[in-house]
This record gives sequence, C-alpha cells and structure tokens, in this order.
Amino acid sequence: MTAAWAATVLTLHPEMFPGPLGVSLSGDALARGLWSLQARNIREHGLGRHRRVDDTPAGGGPGMVMRCDVLAAALDATAPGDDPRPRLLMSPRGTRLTQARMRALAAGRGVVLVCGRFEGVDERVITGRGLEEVSIGDYVLSGGEIAAMALIDACVRLLPGVMGKDASGAEESFETGLLEYPHYTRPREWEGRTIPDILLSGDHAAVARWRRAEAERITRERRPDLLPSSSGAQRADRGPRGN
Ligand code: SAH
Repeated sequence: MTAAWAATVLTLHPEMFPGPLGVSLSGDALARGLWSLQARNIREHGLGRHRRVDDTPAGGGPGMVMRCDVLAAALDATAPGDDPRPRLLMSPRGTRLTQARMRALAAGRGVVLVCGRFEGVDERVITGRGLEEVSIGDYVLSGGEIAAMALIDACVRLLPGVMGKDASGAEESFETGLLEYPHYTRPREWEGRTIPDILLSGDHAAVARWRRAEAERITRERRPDLLPSSSGAQRADRGPRGN
C-alpha cells in the first residue's frame, strides 16, 4: 500500500480496471499519483487445475455461489489483517451508499472492495472476514465491478488536489443537504430560451439568494425526503437500513 489513497479491488475480471477510472478526472489523478489502484484476480486463489472459484448453492436452487475459502485466501493475500482500510463487499443487500459515506471513505487511507458475481458469495466469508456490505442502489447488477467503479469514482473526485480549488464540490447536490441549482452558460439565448436575468446582473448576493431558492425548490419537488423539516419521510442520507 502506497501513501496515496489506495483502492484494492478483488474481482474475477481485473481486465475491467481501470476502465472508465483511467480517463478524465480520475484517470488524470491516477497518473498524477493522487490515488492508486490494484485489481487482483480472485481466480489466482481458485482451486485445482481449473482454478475453481464457485460451486452450487447448498440447499439447491439456480446459479452458483462464490466459495468462502477462495475469497478468504484472496483477501488474506491482498489485504492482511493489519491493513487499515475498510473491507467492503459490493452487494444489493448492503447499506446504500451516500455522499456523506463517500466523503468519509475519501478521508481515510483507501478501500478494499470485493466484487461478487453469480448469485453472490458464501455468507461465511462476510462474517469471517468482517466484510461490510454496501449497495449503490436498489437494482441488481450482474457483478460488483461497476458498483466498485462508482464508489471509487465518487471518492477519488473528493481527494485533495483532484478537483481545482474553485470546484471543491462543497455546493454540489447532497453536500448542502439540497439538490443543486440549475446551471447555464453561453449562448445567452438558445431556441428562444434565455438565461435568467439575475445570473447576468453581476449582483453576487442576489445570485447566491436565487441559487439557494432554486436548490430548495428543486429539492422540495424532487426529493422532499432530503429536507430536514419533512415529517415521516425517511432521511435519504441514512438509507432504509438506518446506517
Ligand atoms: N443474488 C443476489 C444478486 C447477485 S448479483 C441478490 O439477490 O442479492 C451479483 C453481484 O453483483 C453481487 O454479488 C454484487 O457484488 C453485485 N451487485 C449487484 N447489484 C449490486 C448493487 N446494487 N450494489 C452493489 N453491488 C451489486
């Protein structure tokens, strides 16, 4: 593990990495050494001549389950017990990830991410290796890799030096507890649609007030659950499982 924020991904498809993480903001930051990425093939720890990583589900049923002994061997080889980074299992059953959680993860040393495939992983490796299950949303992907990339991308853009100082992200959606206000740029008029006059007024205080009001309006319309005053609504930054 290097000094920079380090992501280690355990996967059956290491060739998927860095993939989209190797371009643009995250890719430039990777090239600049602001973070590091290690994608390790779980199959290296597979069993027998065929490097078997899965087997049929106990109790019957469709699909295959990733073996706990194979996954544990892969974890122990890449992230030994003294590794300070959280070990997260990408899982639709997991705690839903939020911007607040991404900030907390970005503030640490990095992450160790386990990507499931098939029906998922043998329950015993989750408890036996203290994996925390995290989800990127209430839908099912075919594997954990895209979820891992989403998590890494959201963390990397928050690392010091990755975004310019003017784009600290402090005013973005979720950071203020509100969704973001609308953006405009040139041309001043497009297909008969104009930029709101106030944004062209040069009155910075008025612009700030307008943006705040717009952020509140959009949040009220689209995500009233984010507003602290909403009664009965679930706070989205805690998720349904109360983390
Ligand atoms: N049978 C499982 C789904 C397996 S999907 C179930 O019903 O819960 C295969 C793998 O994709 C999972 O092991 C997990 O690593 C990943 N995955 C699927 N959906 C995900 C989500 N919403 N968030 C994070 N990882 C997900």
